[in-house]
Amino acid sequence: MTSQAFQDDRAHVFHSWSAQRALAPAVVAGGEGAWFWTEDGTRYLDFSSQLVNLNLGHQHPRVVAAIQEQAASLCTIAPSFGNAARGEAARLIAEVAPGDLNHVFFTNGGTEANEHAVRMARLATGRHKVLATYRSYHGATTGSITLTGDPRRWPNEPAMPGVVRFFGPYPYRSAFYAETDAQEGERALAHLEEVFTLEGPQTIAAVVLETVVGTNGILVPPDGYLAGVRELCDRHGVMLICDEVMSGFGRCGEWFAVDRWNVRPDLVTFAKGVNSGYVPLGGVVLGPRVYEAFAERAYPGGLTYSGHPLACAAAVATIEAMREEGINERVRRLGEEVVRPRLAKLQERHPSVGEVRGLGLFWAIELVRDRATREMLVPYNAAGEAAKPMLEVAAACKAQGVWPFTHFNRLHVVPPCVTSEKDLINGLDVIDDALDVADRYYTG
Ligand code: PLP
Repeated sequence: MTSQAFQDDRAHVFHSWSAQRALAPAVVAGGEGAWFWTEDGTRYLDFSSQLVNLNLGHQHPRVVAAIQEQAASLCTIAPSFGNAARGEAARLIAEVAPGDLNHVFFTNGGTEANEHAVRMARLATGRHKVLATYRSYHGATTGSITLTGDPRRWPNEPAMPGVVRFFGPYPYRSAFYAETDAQEGERALAHLEEVFTLEGPQTIAAVVLETVVGTNGILVPPDGYLAGVRELCDRHGVMLICDEVMSGFGRCGEWFAVDRWNVRPDLVTFAKGVNSGYVPLGGVVLGPRVYEAFAERAYPGGLTYSGHPLACAAAVATIEAMREEGINERVRRLGEEVVRPRLAKLQERHPSVGEVRGLGLFWAIELVRDRATREMLVPYNAAGEAAKPMLEVAAACKAQGVWPFTHFNRLHVVPPCVTSEKDLINGLDVIDDALDVADRYYTG
């Protein structure tokens, strides 16, 4: 007997990114903190933070109360008006944003934020080209899916003109034959500089990159890389857009991941963790160069729900809760003291673990069939039978009550920032057991 909720879903809900007919989604009845449970009462420790957005966990009382209070006083108001929740959210975001980024354009999510950041950079510079990386995800609307450097772009092409792709650093699978992180950073910069030269720097409006690449592998840039990109952009009047939709608001143990390297982008995009997705919200934080471009002429863009009061009230409560609970400090400590050493042990124990990498509560376990050749446990963009080994690893996690995040040949460790230390350790122990499944495919 299936539930009414399941039947309604199968009869009427058209799901993202999926072939529809065979879908059988777990029906979630509730959640609290790092846990959620399905309608039959099965409980899962969420090691995916849903879509790496639930940084404060489910049902944070302060955020829930803020939404309730805002709903009781004013549910919505057009973007042209001032509003206390909207203004306060913008002020708090500007306070935690890097350097002189002082104004916020609100959107409903990450993809719109990237669309608008690119529009702003193009109009402010009067140039049209945008440089974006392979192995990236920037969203699913026309412009952002074109920026995206993963297979989700393929069926959507051709889309936005003017996007040129380059390689960012990825030491484990270096496009530059680099042998050290430092070499990788230097060679990736030299490559980008050459792309500038070949494309004509005066035609380039912006470089767009994920500060720490998220879904495509948790790729932490080598020290010096981002500063080098900033310098290159400065030399040619190009704007730097850092997509912090996934990496921002606590995930890396910082308000914004760029803080770790002290780099100041011209535009930063955010969404997800800004209010843990309790009400959809995203946006662009912009600096004086962009602001001044639209100080006297109109910015040609807007959204009915830009700065929605319920979403903004949730963001205000989120930032206050993060400050009071010391979330960034907690995430840094858990990352270094709990996750890093345990993942290093997993790598020693399991031949299928080719590399572990990350920071804060943002980690990848990269699985291989052979450590010498680094052959991926499943091929790039594997589907169907070819993807089976990863599905089996995920199933082994779920069987022990941990909901994992997997992508291609990687298991990501991305739990909510409020996960208790005990749950974090237990979840990593479950992954330890599940990796036995991956080891069975090891041929090296
Ligand atoms: N940018 C990054 C780095 C993301 O990870 C995502 C979503 O996963 C997006 C943009 C798109 O955000 P949204 O799904 O809110 O449109």
